[in-house]
Amino acid sequence: MKLDGILGQERAVDLLRRSLAAGRLAHAYVFTGPPGVGKRATALALAAACLCTARPGEGCGACPECRLVEALSHPDLFLEDLERAQAERATASQVSIEQVRRVRGHLALRPVRGPRKIAVVDDAERMTADAQNALLKTLEEPPGRTTLVLVATNAAVLLPTIRSRCQQVRFAPLEDAVIERLLVAGGAEPADAATAAPLAEGSLVRGRELASGELAERCRDLRDRLDRIHESPVTEVLDLASEMTASRTARAEQSALVATVLDWCRRRVRDAVASSAAGPGGRDAVRRAVRQLERAYATSRDLDRHANAHLSWDVLLLELRRAGPIA
Ligand SMILES: [Zn+2]
Repeated sequence: MKLDGILGQERAVDLLRRSLAAGRLAHAYVFTGPPGVGKRATALALAAACLCTARPGEGCGACPECRLVEALSHPDLFLEDLERAQAERATASQVSIEQVRRVRGHLALRPVRGPRKIAVVDDAERMTADAQNALLKTLEEPPGRTTLVLVATNAAVLLPTIRSRCQQVRFAPLEDAVIERLLVAGGAEPADAATAAPLAEGSLVRGRELASGELAERCRDLRDRLDRIHESPVTEVLDLASEMTASRTARAEQSALVATVLDWCRRRVRDAVASSAAGPGGRDAVRRAVRQLERAYATSRDLDRHANAHLSWDVLLLELRRAGPIA
C-alpha cells in the first residue's frame, strides 16, 4: 500500500504527492470516479504516505507503520466502509449517523503514533442527508493535523455544503493494458486477463469478475475446441455455433467470445509465419491463416451490425474447420 503502487491514476497520485511534499495536505478530500479504479487503495496509500517513517510522503510498504496501515490496524487510521456496515446492520440512516460519529470521534483525538490522523469513508454517497449534516461540523472546523477522505462513485449525491468543503480528486477509468497487468499480477491466466481487460470498462473489479468466472471458463473451452476444430465432426462445429448464440449469452459474453476467436486467429497467423521458413508449403499456410483472420474480422463486424449471429458463427466456424491445421 504505497503511492507508487497505484497504477493508471497518475494525475490523482501526482496531485496528492505535490500536496504531501509541500506539507499542504487538505483537511478533506472527496475521491470520485467509477467503481473499481483504485480510489480506496489510493486513500489507504495516502494514509501510508502520511504515516510512513522510512519514506515519508511516499510510503515504503515495509516499515511497521506501513504494515499497520496495510492491516487496517494503525491507530491513526480509521476506515469506515459504509457498504459493509449497511449490509451488516438494520437501517441505513441509523448506521450512517453512528458511523459518522465514529469518524468524528477518531479525528477529534490526538495522533497516537504518527504526525496526523486520517479517516477514510468508503461508499460515502451512502450517507443519508442527516449523516452528512453530522459530518459538516467536522468539515467546517477541522481538528488540526487531520485528513478526511470521502470515497464516492458519484459525488453529485453528496450535499453541496459537503462538496464545497472538500478538495475533489478525480479518478479516471483504467486503461485496458493496466487492467490486464493488474489481473496477471493478481494471479489470473494471461489469456483470461487479455480477454477480460477490454470488456472491463476501465474497472479492475469488473475485470476480476470477468477473468475469474464462468466467462473465462467459456473462453478457455472455446480456445480448446478451436485448437482441434479441423478434426471435429461437422455436427460438433454446428453445435459450437449454437452454443455461441444461445439466448443466455449476454452481449459482454458475445464480445468476449468474438475476441477469443480473433485472438486465436491472430495466433495462427503468427504460428504460420514462424513455421513458413521450414517448408515449401509455408507461404500457402500464411495465406490461409491471414484469410481466416480476415474472415473472423468480417464476422465480428457483422455481429456488431446485428446480423444473424447464428448464421455468422456457422459460416466462420465451418471455414476455420475446412482450413485445416496451419503449422
Ligand atoms: Zn513505510
